[in-house]
Amino acid sequence: MKRFLFGSLTVLAMAALLAACGKKDSTKYLVMGTNAEFPPFETLGGANSSEVVGFDVEVARAIAAKVGLPLKIEDMKFDSLLPALSAGKVDMVLAGMTITPERAQNVDFSAPYYKATQVVLLLAGGFIPESKDDLKGKTIAVQLGTTGDGVAAEITGQENVRPFTSAMDAVVELMNSKVDCVVIDEQPAIQFAKKNPELMLVRLAFDDEFYGVAVKKGNAELLAQINAALAEIAADGRNDQFVDQWMVQAPAAAAAEAAE
Ligand code: GLN
Repeated sequence: MKRFLFGSLTVLAMAALLAACGKKDSTKYLVMGTNAEFPPFETLGGANSSEVVGFDVEVARAIAAKVGLPLKIEDMKFDSLLPALSAGKVDMVLAGMTITPERAQNVDFSAPYYKATQVVLLLAGGFIPESKDDLKGKTIAVQLGTTGDGVAAEITGQENVRPFTSAMDAVVELMNSKVDCVVIDEQPAIQFAKKNPELMLVRLAFDDEFYGVAVKKGNAELLAQINAALAEIAADGRNDQFVDQWMVQAPAAAAAEAAE
């Protein structure tokens, strides 16, 4: 009887342990918040265009592997990302997000993992600005809450800025000739210009920006794991491989502009 009891208890304990393990595996994820409208960093792709793919997703997978949890991606509006992080709805944000002092007041950023800048998208054959001053008084479409939004407001005044929740919507506004230009990060701009030959890209004297992974303020443990993963992928060549895989070269017209 004693033996039977012991045996049953062992089985029960093992079952409980297995259940606990199984539960952990099926419910615990590292959750990445992003806005999947920002190619080549994050966009919808895969078989049914229902999967979030892109450079940031590759980086996030490397982070998740380091943390030892499966990655789960939550797609939302860009300006909802940092509130979602602070509310604990996502564990980290990778969204081609520039590290800024304002954002760093509310969240903590990893070391920079990508260097970017703003550029101007215009309709080919129309006006070509030679300096930022040439954009004064022009109507500029932007993605709401982005650094491009801030830069455009500084140049042309808030009243001349048209904010959209998605970068593509801002570009469509330009293609419909409703605004003079779009101010947006360089890599997405190159992608939009490649897909739409009526667009052209001009580089002006915009500052360098650095993308970082954001975590909830004070989440030092996850931040350390993220920084370790970023250092590893930089050292072992994976980062270069992700760059080769996802980044696009400027189209010929844009390259000519850049050379001037
Ligand atoms: N890099 C810009 C920013 O952080 C734009 C990011 C985005 O639109 N996904 O504001």
